[in-house]
Amino acid sequence: MKSKQNAITRRQQFKLFLSIMASFAVLFLTLGLIIFNSFQSSTYKSIDKEMKSEVLSVQKQPSLQHDDPGPQTDPNPEHKKKEPTPKAPFQASILVFNNQGKLLNKSSLGNRYSILKNIKLNKKNLNKKQTIVIKNMNFRSILIKVSKNNNNPMYAGNYVLIMQNIDTQIQTMNNFEKILAITFFVFWVIALVISYFLARINMLPIVRSWKQQTEFVNDAAHELRTPLTIIQGKLEYMLTKPNKKIIDEAESISVSLDEVSRLNSLTNNLLDLARFDNATTQLNFEYTDPKVFLKDPIMPFKDIINSQHKVFQISLNQHPTLYLDRDKIKQLLIILLDNATKYTQKNGTIRIYDQIENGKYQLIIADTGVGIKDSDKEKIFGRFYRVDKSRTQSSGGHGLGLAIAKQIVDNHHGSISVRDNLPQGSEFVVELPIKRNK
Ligand code: ADP
Repeated sequence: MKSKQNAITRRQQFKLFLSIMASFAVLFLTLGLIIFNSFQSSTYKSIDKEMKSEVLSVQKQPSLQHDDPGPQTDPNPEHKKKEPTPKAPFQASILVFNNQGKLLNKSSLGNRYSILKNIKLNKKNLNKKQTIVIKNMNFRSILIKVSKNNNNPMYAGNYVLIMQNIDTQIQTMNNFEKILAITFFVFWVIALVISYFLARINMLPIVRSWKQQTEFVNDAAHELRTPLTIIQGKLEYMLTKPNKKIIDEAESISVSLDEVSRLNSLTNNLLDLARFDNATTQLNFEYTDPKVFLKDPIMPFKDIINSQHKVFQISLNQHPTLYLDRDKIKQLLIILLDNATKYTQKNGTIRIYDQIENGKYQLIIADTGVGIKDSDKEKIFGRFYRVDKSRTQSSGGHGLGLAIAKQIVDNHHGSISVRDNLPQGSEFVVELPIKRNK
């Protein structure tokens, strides 16, 4: 049973982990793509800006310069004209084609010619920015048609292909891509480790409440089974004596009735707790003075306690304004007074008193009964917890009373605790907030 539960928990945890992992992967991937794309587009933008200034400088060139120190051995007289190298950056190359696609500035290209010679004029690409790769070198290029009126006779009326070497930028982009991938991978792994622990931490309350729920159902079933078995036994026994009169079987009938009333109170308690769990308990809060609502539940106990030869002392003197559900507080008082009566021997004393501490209203039910060990003081507010099962079984308790009491107090934003009543017994302290303004 336990190993099956663990397996389900582990499966659930793994599913949670997988979903967190996938979410992080999608998140990092998207983030990576956005960063890389914006880096890429800003790089291309700056290259294109440079190209634009080159295009402008070609189109508006006022005078010719020749700053390419490449060898000038071309015998063609046409090339004797000053050949173009505008104020272009270092990596720029300019290819001038005539209408027929003949390269006109071979000599100005110098040793770059061997690389660029295979480039043909493609008029379709006019005014289009392109990225081309030649012999492992990357270029951004644009082809323009220069007007016949251009000052530079080499350009005038010809096609000019401006090529910008972008190897450095491509290299930078590749490096950036690599660094980005590594960084994101490392962070993804870190995120995985964190998400693994997060999945575990997140599962803890679920596992705990699941365990509590299972325990609760088991305990409830167990508690229900005992009276049912007794009733069944008694009824079966009576069936074996069909001719007997009711008076003869009065004991069996009375035992069965006791068990039925135990079942009744148990199911009511279970229902109360289930309603608190589902938050379906309707609380009717109202402003009230303790004096008004305390009288009702306390008075019946006076007779019960006195009839059991125990002393009952009441000293309620405070009159703050409280905001509470009177019926629920009545139920809480009945639970506490009932316990005090149950666990206090003959000649013992049960005392109820109130006080104001740290701005809170405290209602204290003290007894000189059997007392509660320190190790049990927290546990008794748990469901089905009984200090001495055999004894409380006979006194009719199921260990649900204080669990309900705690739920009631929690719903009133208060607290409940138990401490020793020296020299003998225990004191249950219920603390409720005081309302200043109505
Ligand atoms: P029960 O119906 O068994 O009394 P409760 O939840 O009211 O269940 O109490 C839980 C356990 O706490 C009891 O079984 C009992 O052992 C202990 N307890 C509660 N009130 C007192 C008290 N006034 N004095 C001593 N023990 C108490």
